[in-house]
Amino acid sequence: MAHRFVVIGGGPAGNQAATTAARLGAEVTVIERDVVGGAAHLWDCIPSKAMIATGDAMTMLRQAGDMGLRDVEARLDFDALRARITAIESRLETSVSGLLASQGVRLMAGTGRLVGPHEVEVTEKDGTVSVIPADTVVLATGSRPRIPEWAPIDGERVLTTRHAYPPPTLPDHLVVVGSGVTGVEFVHMFSAFGCDVTLIVSRQQVLPQKDPEVAAVLEDDFLGRGVRLFKGARAEGIDVADDGVAVRCDDGRVARGSHVLLCIGSIPNSETLGLDDVGVETDGGYVKVDHNCKSSIPHIYAAGDLSGKLPLSSVASIQGRKIAEHALGLHAGPHRHLDYEKAASAIFTDPEIADVGLAEADAFAEGRKVRVTKVPFSASAKALINNDPRGFVKIVSDPATGVVLGGSIVGRHAAELISVIALAVTAGLKVVDLAESILVHPALAEALTEAAE
Ligand SMILES: Cc1cc2nc3c(=O)[nH]c(=O)nc-3n(C[C@H](O)[C@H](O)[C@H](O)COP(=O)(O)OP(=O)(O)OC[C@H]3O[C@@H](n4cnc5c(N)ncnc54)[C@H](O)[C@@H]3O)c2cc1C
Repeated sequence: MAHRFVVIGGGPAGNQAATTAARLGAEVTVIERDVVGGAAHLWDCIPSKAMIATGDAMTMLRQAGDMGLRDVEARLDFDALRARITAIESRLETSVSGLLASQGVRLMAGTGRLVGPHEVEVTEKDGTVSVIPADTVVLATGSRPRIPEWAPIDGERVLTTRHAYPPPTLPDHLVVVGSGVTGVEFVHMFSAFGCDVTLIVSRQQVLPQKDPEVAAVLEDDFLGRGVRLFKGARAEGIDVADDGVAVRCDDGRVARGSHVLLCIGSIPNSETLGLDDVGVETDGGYVKVDHNCKSSIPHIYAAGDLSGKLPLSSVASIQGRKIAEHALGLHAGPHRHLDYEKAASAIFTDPEIADVGLAEADAFAEGRKVRVTKVPFSASAKALINNDPRGFVKIVSDPATGVVLGGSIVGRHAAELISVIALAVTAGLKVVDLAESILVHPALAEALTEAAE
């Protein structure tokens, strides 16, 4: 009998687990209560980057004069933007559903939960309830925005990220609460659309987890665009009136705007999964997993945001693939475990920010000897051609062996360029391998080889 592989949740983690397991010969079922593709496609990665792409296009058109163009004007058509996002989402949904179908995966539109260690109950959209047997269960139900009790979310003026792609109307003045990755991406996108923006920053630096040098570049850009920064302030209340909102902060300041958007983290979708009943251990609602993403019950795995590791779509996908390979016996021999420290990540601001592996600041905090080389894009021919010489490439390596340990890039296309350093970090390449690669000229990537020299 084929291995029965049941996945709850059809986001990047669940879909990747499903298609890999199907390729390896399992009989696979995916249970999805909403849209195949998950929150990643519907509310998070895809609509956010689609809106940012429109904002970036507007910014470039505003700078058209610098490129030798005259009389170029851009006005945002909010309905056209909405239609564009819907079209991208539905195209991706069709493509993911098609992929699942082509691999022979059974897709059930409904809500799943564990009712026994090897039994998953499915309540389908028409109310039909059934129990399906499973040799392996993958829990991949993702997460949702955290809403504090002081925030009267109404989806009109007081928004979470789920209401903001795009919001019901274009805000005149958006107050963003939270200056992590999601918060700063929203600041970038709405200020590019021409909205006034105020950002409430609980610490003294936006992106508190990032290298201060990187955060400083972003703060400069925000201040240059007229974004107001409320530093060292924590929001603790929101008053809503017909014509706007007032966000009260713990230091007595009040940020006024037409809308407020909360970007203060997420919580796992785990409370209705029946985890306690079958003995799956959790921590703060996240499923506790080992290096194979296995829970406390050996044949039950968790992937993606629910696993409490790095909340990134890219990480969710690779966890899903590794789970399928592990459950179906592919990891019996030597293999490489997932190393979350080597995950590349990017922030889609202007300039873009991307990093991977060991950060310079962390190396110094640990007292670790590293070699750090940095090349500014102001020295790059392609950056000048692009009319955007901001930012830099930084490579962190081991001074004794030359092995590349990490790097960060600030500048145009940083999210693409970081792939080269990510590959070097994962493959254990040395700076000399980068320095001796013969790249295209003129290209932004030349700064990578220069930083490696
Ligand atoms: C605003 C924002 C922007 C982001 N941008 C990026 C980005 O650019 N790049 C990046 O890598 N990451 C990004 N992320 C993070 C990324 O969206 C998540 O890490 C990713 O979605 C996690 O994938 P997942 O498969 O775990 O969960 P999800 O994508 O959340 O999918 C889980 C699925 O499970 C379904 N589900 C839940 N419970 C049940 C149940 N009981 N039964 C059946 N189905 C169920 C849900 O409907 C959902 O479809 C962003 C996050 C946010 C909030």
